Amino acid sequence: MSRYAEVLLPLPLHSTFSYIVPFDLAPQISVGSRVVVPFGKKKYYTGIVKGLTDISPGNFEVKEIGLVLDGGSPVVKRPQMQFWDWIAEYYLCSSGDVFKAAVPSGLKIESETFIEIAPDYEESPEQTLSQREAIIIQALDHAAKRMSIADIEKLTGLKGVGASVGPLLAKGAVIISEKLVERYTPQRIRCVRLNCEPGDNDSIRKMFLTIKGAPKQEKALLAIVELSGYNRMDCERDDITAEAVKERAGVASPILRALADKGIIEFYRKEINRFKYNGLPTSPLPMLSEAQGVALDEIHRSWIDHDVTLLHGVTSSGKTELYQHLIQFVLNSGRQALLLVPEIALTTQLTARIQKVFGDKVVVYHSKFSDNERVDIWRRLLAEKEPCVVIGVRSSVFLPFENLGLVIVDEEHDSSYKQTEPAPRYNARDSAMVLARMHGAKVLLGSATPAVDTYYKAQSGKYGLVSLNERFGNAQLPDIQIIDTNKERQKGTMKGALASSTCSTISSALAKGEQAIVFINRRGFSPVAVCGRCGYTPRCECCDVALTYHKSIDSLVCHYCGAKYPLQVTCPACKEPAVHTEGYGTERVEEEIESEWPDTPVARMDLDTTRRKEGHAGLIEEFSSGKAKLLVGTQMVTKGLDFGAVGAVAVINADALVNSPDFRSSERAFNTISQVAGRAGRRSSEEPATVSVQTRQPGSPVYQFVAAHDYAGFYNYEIEQRRQYSYPPFTRLIHIYIKHRDARTADDIAAAYSSRLRALFGNRVLGPEIPAVSRIQSLYIRKLMIKIEVEASMKKVRDILRKVLIDFHERGLSGIKSAIVYYDVDPC
Ligand code: ADP
Ligand code: ZN
Repeated sequence: MSRYAEVLLPLPLHSTFSYIVPFDLAPQISVGSRVVVPFGKKKYYTGIVKGLTDISPGNFEVKEIGLVLDGGSPVVKRPQMQFWDWIAEYYLCSSGDVFKAAVPSGLKIESETFIEIAPDYEESPEQTLSQREAIIIQALDHAAKRMSIADIEKLTGLKGVGASVGPLLAKGAVIISEKLVERYTPQRIRCVRLNCEPGDNDSIRKMFLTIKGAPKQEKALLAIVELSGYNRMDCERDDITAEAVKERAGVASPILRALADKGIIEFYRKEINRFKYNGLPTSPLPMLSEAQGVALDEIHRSWIDHDVTLLHGVTSSGKTELYQHLIQFVLNSGRQALLLVPEIALTTQLTARIQKVFGDKVVVYHSKFSDNERVDIWRRLLAEKEPCVVIGVRSSVFLPFENLGLVIVDEEHDSSYKQTEPAPRYNARDSAMVLARMHGAKVLLGSATPAVDTYYKAQSGKYGLVSLNERFGNAQLPDIQIIDTNKERQKGTMKGALASSTCSTISSALAKGEQAIVFINRRGFSPVAVCGRCGYTPRCECCDVALTYHKSIDSLVCHYCGAKYPLQVTCPACKEPAVHTEGYGTERVEEEIESEWPDTPVARMDLDTTRRKEGHAGLIEEFSSGKAKLLVGTQMVTKGLDFGAVGAVAVINADALVNSPDFRSSERAFNTISQVAGRAGRRSSEEPATVSVQTRQPGSPVYQFVAAHDYAGFYNYEIEQRRQYSYPPFTRLIHIYIKHRDARTADDIAAAYSSRLRALFGNRVLGPEIPAVSRIQSLYIRKLMIKIEVEASMKKVRDILRKVLIDFHERGLSGIKSAIVYYDVDPC
């Protein structure tokens, strides 16, 4: 009787695949094991065993599992798999998509096609090679081994080598093979050891005699003996790195090499986990203020009846300090904690604060880590016996947690918790709550400006609610001024992007030795280029958007696909030399600020200045050390940063936030402006800091609530709007996206969807509509929306949506095969 494994593959497939478990591998394979299996004609993939059974899957050819990795010990734990299934089911994607997103590619060995010269190949006169083919053969001959297409391209400088492989095969010149490629490379460090048994003090004495008269070598040998404990019999020998010896003895590498040449020591390499540092805690847990202490008690009490509790704490109230106490509490109980943060910009300061208290119990997981680093973190968690705390961005919900006791979602309102591209289109905040439930863990959502949906659930008793209304250390909330730029313009008091009152606020902060932050929600120099004669605006050739002018590279850039175009002064429409740029982005504001305060160092933080891994950290350091006095940036500067000396904040063109065309725009505007304002005056208890919000619509209710620090007022206003127009939290939304190279086909599929869904859901279906940006990267986009009452069964709705898509495929709806169609559940 054969045994079969159900294997999950990293492909967009809805089901698992069955494989035979070869007899000799059977003892090693269990649920969660990583296996390599053949798939299709020649490919191999790494899959995860989801189940084992003795029942034959059916009357078709079943292939065998090829290889077991990690000695079979599971890399995916049961609760984790259950969690993946939930994500696939709830967010309407395939479990293969979830697998792909969840596991770092270093753990997903795949096969790659390799090419080599056919052993019996000889060039014959009647079968000549083209010039390209000859170059490829030459390269293969020269390398004298099989090479991947990428390697051949690198070696020859040719492009599109893949296309030449077919003809070469036909001419019998090459053969191809599949080779498994492991992408993970462990990090190794150089270590040294003595050439004798521990405790063999005779030999050690002889070694010292051998090098008598060479004081540097003596020093080095002494350092090795001390560090390793070789002179003691009873203890384990530690690995000592060559670096540690050199540092301790104050010697350079040649000295160690001399010892090795004399046979006294030998070198070896040791594999290390990149994330095993020995950082010891340097600070105790902070003492809590009275208000914080009360809040901490309330959180614990609230968790008795509510697994999820919202901590609504004003900016700089010390939420991080409360997190530290809660983390300590779970670690003491022997369980793991997960602290989710929205973006990498936030983590450097926060991580440093948490690391000070918890040392090497902290594991950081962020989006700019290399794949090798991800694998090491994954392995560390699998191996970890001690409880630890993971600080991570949204994808850290996929890590192999064993025993979660606490999940904290910092800045829970932040929309970057939602992944929009590619699938799984999940919200990490909401998913983390499900993950927590699977582990029996408690959840704390923290924010100064909770999402309207979250606050509604806290108000209605679904979540617990704890409030912290005062800033730590008597620091005052900033004074927020709404500045009417229409009036300023009439009075002639706009100095470029800044009103003169904004300038004087910044000047007086700088005069007091304080710093200032300027927030503008656009990168680049100018967001519009336009012909002054005929109004022509250059647009991207692949996307339906206007281009932004970037002065640093003197080009127009598409912010959707990244394409660059030269800025031509001569208008291609009317041929007049009248194309100029208008409006403000970070580059231009930076330039104006530099000329307004010529002796004040300015830092700029936006996507363009933070691309490198250390980009954020460097800029944050520059500002927090006081090297830069002014910080200009996009929404990156609004989030979580904790600088002591910010006396002024300016928000330029706040209207762009308020007027964006979706139902969450007011909420996002209120949150963003309140958050950036919250960066000001975080220490001073004397005079409040000043925040200038520049707008052309000073009457808009959002600004009034922001100025009054009135979250409750804003919430009451907004929740009424949502109720009136049947938006979340009173309904649930699912968007349906249809993308196709051909506009007509996109329209036709959208129409078919619309009539099918209307028959099932009636007027709960809205659209199809053409979105504001109707084409991205040459694909035309159509969109439908379904609004479902919260009381209705979402499971039924999801089942229907899944079936409809499968049905369209099976019936061969015209164009569906070449279209991209997907669902976005709970869109942000
Ligand atoms: P939030 O996250 O609520 O915006 P933080 O946790 O960043 O606020 O706290 C604001 C500032 O006050 C930080 O610099 C923090 O170190 C300080 N702070 C808050 N609570 C304490 C405390 N109990 N002891 C010492 N410093 C504190
Ligand atoms: Zn584009």
